[in-house]
Amino acid sequence: VIREQTLQRLLSAIDEGEVVELTSKLVNINSVFDPDSGTDESRVAMTVARWASNEGLEVEVEEVARGRPNVIIRLGPTTGTRRLILEGHTDVVTPGDLSAWSHDPFEAKLVGRRLYGRGTNDTKGNLAAMLTAMAAIKRCGIRLKGQIIGAVLCDEEGLMLGVQDFIKRGHADGVTGAIICEPQDLRICCTQKGALRIRYFIRGKMSHGAMPLDGLNPIAVVSRILDGLEHCEGDIINNIDPHPLLGWPSITPTVLRAPAIGPGQLNVVPESAEVLVDVRTIPGQDHPRIIEDLKRVAARAREGAQQLCRLRDMATGAKRHELYQVEFQVMSDRPHTQTDPQDPLVKAVEWATRLVTQREPVYDGVPGTTDGTYLWALKGIPIVTIGAGAREVPHQVDEWVDVDQLLQVARIYAVSAVAYLQEDHG
Ligand SMILES: [Zn+2]
Repeated sequence: VIREQTLQRLLSAIDEGEVVELTSKLVNINSVFDPDSGTDESRVAMTVARWASNEGLEVEVEEVARGRPNVIIRLGPTTGTRRLILEGHTDVVTPGDLSAWSHDPFEAKLVGRRLYGRGTNDTKGNLAAMLTAMAAIKRCGIRLKGQIIGAVLCDEEGLMLGVQDFIKRGHADGVTGAIICEPQDLRICCTQKGALRIRYFIRGKMSHGAMPLDGLNPIAVVSRILDGLEHCEGDIINNIDPHPLLGWPSITPTVLRAPAIGPGQLNVVPESAEVLVDVRTIPGQDHPRIIEDLKRVAARAREGAQQLCRLRDMATGAKRHELYQVEFQVMSDRPHTQTDPQDPLVKAVEWATRLVTQREPVYDGVPGTTDGTYLWALKGIPIVTIGAGAREVPHQVDEWVDVDQLLQVARIYAVSAVAYLQEDHG
């Protein structure tokens, strides 16, 4: 659909050296959000803003929270029926134990065809690729029929405040498609798991470990909650087929604390306990229903533990009047997403991927949630997630990205955007 001449010009306007250099520049700025050590996304955001503005792109910087800006980059007219977001985040996760790294995580290093450093893979490499793609379209003087919005957002690894702010300010209004630039090994992902983060807080009564009948042990509720969660998960697995790309849903307790606050002690019945649960869902599941089921787990666990208390009191002659209290809280609710594989954006990305890689594209699903989850859930925007980088590498030591993939993905972003926002031949 794009003229051959335009296509060749665009492909040759993106070279490996430029993408690797920009990636390295971004990786070399520590953008872990860590107020204690004074690092955040501000420096990397300002570097992106300066770079884009030097390329002649239209740039806005918006403060989401203190030291945490979004950068919004625009190219092309606001007229036209289509508008495309290219999204990449500026924050990275902590490098963890620095001595476990073979190289300084905040000094990008090219070894063979691998570029090492925190964020090379998730997702500063892909961010650099999308920025280079926008700059190349601009440099080639390609006239678009709709606008590309480069959404360079903060706090993807945390509460996703960046994308929520971006939506709240109206930047996603009128947008017809979004490419989420995250490491997916150049696979085209049109679906992703949903997530629920659940917290149970149980209050009992503290007592001496030698006199448990004077207290009310919250751990009796905890064990029943864990049991209930296993049953819930079993019911789901027995009544649903695995998603062809996402596999099985899951209900996984990940954090147990007793006491919920302060250090525990072996000879003290704790006052309170806490259970945190990571629930992952697939299309076909209903979040409100799962939440109801998980609430029921709390009620049953409380009732079971109270019953045990009554039985013990009867058998021993103890007289406890205290009642367990169980609080149930949905800490976050992120839906699963499913973009129609026939959507014009998917078709554009498929066409571009085939052209650039000279291979048949592979379709897959995203196991985690991304900023795209919010664009899909709150604005109904069809999203496609694609990016360079092995999928097992994010959040690990010695993070790396393959530079051949990095170059390819920059070209895929550029060609997809132009194909989706058809060049104006007039
Ligand atoms: Zn990421």
